[in-house]
This record gives sequence, C-alpha cells and structure tokens, in this order.
Amino acid sequence: MKLFAIGLGPGDLDYMAPRAREALLQSDVIVGYTTYMALITELTAGKELISTGMTGETERCAAAVEEALKGKTVSVVSSGDAGIYGMASLLYELAEKHPSVEIEVIPGITAAVSAAAILGSPLTNDFAVISLSDHLTPWEIIEKRLDACSSADMVVCIYNPQSSQRSDYLQRACQISLRHKAPDTKCGYVKNAYRGDTTEVAICTLDELQSRNVDMFTTVIIGNSTTVIIDNKLVTTRGYAV
Ligand code: SAH
Repeated sequence: MKLFAIGLGPGDLDYMAPRAREALLQSDVIVGYTTYMALITELTAGKELISTGMTGETERCAAAVEEALKGKTVSVVSSGDAGIYGMASLLYELAEKHPSVEIEVIPGITAAVSAAAILGSPLTNDFAVISLSDHLTPWEIIEKRLDACSSADMVVCIYNPQSSQRSDYLQRACQISLRHKAPDTKCGYVKNAYRGDTTEVAICTLDELQSRNVDMFTTVIIGNSTTVIIDNKLVTTRGYAV
C-alpha cells in the first residue's frame, strides 16, 4: 500500500521533480488543497480527487491513509517541499498504526530556494527559514527564533509573512531583526514565484521592509551583513577574493 507525499515545487510544472510526475500519474487518488490541485490538473485527469479547505489538513491526510488502506495508490500534494511546513510529517503520524502503508516522500523545490533564485543568490551562506504563522507555533517561540538567527547574522527567509488577521507580523519581525541587523541590511521578497506572469519581485532595505505590504503567497528574505546588491540582484557574498 503506497502513499506518496509529494512536493510540487513552486507552481510551474517545469520545476517539479520527474519522480513526482511519475508518482502522480501512477496514483489512483490525489489529495491536496484546492489551490495546489489547480496547478496539476493536466496530470490528474480521471483520478479520484480529495480536496477540502485549508483548515482540513488532518481530515484530508486521514482520508489519504484510509484510501491507501483500501489498497489504492495515493498521492498527497503540498506546494514546495512536502516535508517543509507540508503534509509529510502528519502522514507519518497518522499512519503510525498502519505498518502496511508505505510512505515515500518526494522532495520538491521549497519556496526559499525559488525566491532566492529569482532574487539572485541571497542564500550563499548559513540561513534559516522561519514561518510567521502562529497557528501551530506560539508567537513567543517565533520571536525567540527570529532574535537568535538575527543575532547570529544569519540570512532569514520568512514564510507566511502576513495575512489579513496578522497584518503587522512582518513589521514585528523586522523590528526584532533590527535589534541586531543594520537598518540598511539588504532584503528582498517574491510573490508567486514561478507562477507565470503573476510573479512579483522587490528589493529593499530592512528599514523599508517594515512598511511593505506583502501577503501569504510571498517569501521574504532578510540578508545579513555580507548581503549586497549587484545589478539589481540580491547577493550574499561568500568571502572569495575577487
Ligand atoms: N511546503 C511549502 C511551504 C508552505 S508554507 C514549501 O516548501 O515551499 C506557505 C508559505 O510558503 C507561503 O506563505 C509563502 O511564504 C511560501 N510560498 C509558497 N509558495 C510560494 C511561491 N510560489 N512564491 C513565494 N512564496 C511561496
């Protein structure tokens, strides 16, 4: 009994692993959030589809395990990578009591990597990924992680930077970063990376980032003390003599 946890990458199917495509084509059932299912319609024709709203993650993964237990091949899709703020861990937890269900995680290009490639090369050296969503992680922990990574001069990639219920979270994250990083630290953000002509890119300073309006489809990258702008690209230098 096979259960694939598939990372679709950022959106454009050219950026999805061939193994993921193969698994989707092999599957009887595809499970995922509606927005992600829309990205792969050309691969899912004629298959059984299970997609509920965003809050139905547990329900959706439980349904996937049940379908696999019936002997079907099932794929659960996440955007980016399924093991990074995705469904893979939940599938392992839910399938723990069912050893007959074999889980295979197929890696995908995570948003930090997509955004970085579009911006230039901001992740050259040590970096961290931090989500500002306090839905499952308390804000105090998020703040502690932001503070620690900023104090260690790490480049910080921010997922889930802002939503209508959390309109000041990016501003708060900038203020925490500013405890340790200079106001002119170079930053960038990408909305809808590799999603056709909806992609938007911006480069600014940490000080300017505080008042920028972004949304849940955006990844923000806060540079470190060696991040510079070269020809409109955000580049963290590595220390080579040039
Ligand atoms: N599993 C996903 C992350 C899910 S968390 C991954 O590995 O990429 C959702 C967050 O990812 C969004 O709030 C946004 O910050 C980021 N994200 C996902 N897709 C994106 C895209 N195409 N462009 C920019 N950011 C994206």
